[in-house]
Amino acid sequence: MQNIYGITKTNLEEYFINNNEKKFRATQIYEWIYRKNVKSFDEMSNINKDLINKLKKDFYFGNIDIIKKQEDKLVKKYLFSLSDGNKIESVVMYHDYGISICISSQIGCNMGCAFCESGRLKKVRNLQTSEMVLQVLKVQNDIKERISHIVIMGIGEPFDNYNNLLDFIKIVNNPYGIEIGSRHITVSTSGIVPKIYDFADQNLGVNLAISLHAPNDLLRSKIMKINKVYKIDDIIKAVKYYISKTNRRVTFEYIMLDGINDNKENAIELAKLIKGINSYVNIIPYNETNNLEFKRSSTLKISKFYDILKKENINVTIRKEFGSKVSGACGQLRAENQGGV
Ligand code: SAH
Ligand code: SF4
Repeated sequence: MQNIYGITKTNLEEYFINNNEKKFRATQIYEWIYRKNVKSFDEMSNINKDLINKLKKDFYFGNIDIIKKQEDKLVKKYLFSLSDGNKIESVVMYHDYGISICISSQIGCNMGCAFCESGRLKKVRNLQTSEMVLQVLKVQNDIKERISHIVIMGIGEPFDNYNNLLDFIKIVNNPYGIEIGSRHITVSTSGIVPKIYDFADQNLGVNLAISLHAPNDLLRSKIMKINKVYKIDDIIKAVKYYISKTNRRVTFEYIMLDGINDNKENAIELAKLIKGINSYVNIIPYNETNNLEFKRSSTLKISKFYDILKKENINVTIRKEFGSKVSGACGQLRAENQGGV
């Protein structure tokens, strides 16, 4: 038995062909579950009884439950309970260009970045593809508006759940399903280098964001354990490969941690590092967590850092802040729910 929300359209087509059916059945099923939102095979009026019975033997409609919702003006945070009792969170944000959802890819995270609340809970398990798809579907149904953008920046390291991530992208991107354009999907990684190469070769056309957060190995290794395995130079090479294969501009995320990575020299070194690469820096004001070691840089320091990058002709933006009131901001997820709701 397989969860119907976790199967790509290509695999579903294969299933039908193997069962002496036409592959357009897969389109029909996709339209029923993602467009008409039916939750049982019995409601699929253009599928014959025999086939419905066969489908019922091979697939089931899995579910994840919304157990808590916190709302602020332009943000909603959802807490979900999974079928094994684990909990995950998603955040939906209303922008002027559309509605985006930030989804989780794992329960906990093993990367152990020093500043990140999500990573404090060691990885319990990967999310199944269906559990990622259902975050989008359930929230979209709840808000009764179309979600236009997906960012995989919630709890977890998406490249540590690689195969499920690829299937997830194929499912939400499919034109007969949720139909989120590839240019509206962004995957953020702490920098698992071999996966960056593989992801480039997949040719999915989605946006890649790299959590860089420091311009040199000494500093980066202090705050991100993964830098002991994959060095900045390796990341830069992989990013260049990604750009050459996909023609997409890559984002470098840079959290501003007071007194740690936010001075003038850091900005100059960063500019040097990425000069000439088709990319932009997204400066992220740090959201303070229970971890008292790290403080947010002052607004003045952030704007000075921004100005230096600009002067060096680096494309740069400062991330608009969303969701800190509902602890739905980056790096704050999970903090409140570790002991259950
Ligand atoms: N594991 C992936 C994706 C999830 S984290 C990654 O690390 O890229 C998404 C982003 O939030 C990353 O850039 C991460 O470094 C950042 N982040 C973590 N904690 C944060 C905090 N407290 N304030 C602001 N951003 C944070
Ligand atoms: Fe994991 Fe990303 Fe948090 Fe690092 S920043 S611990 S990779 S979720």
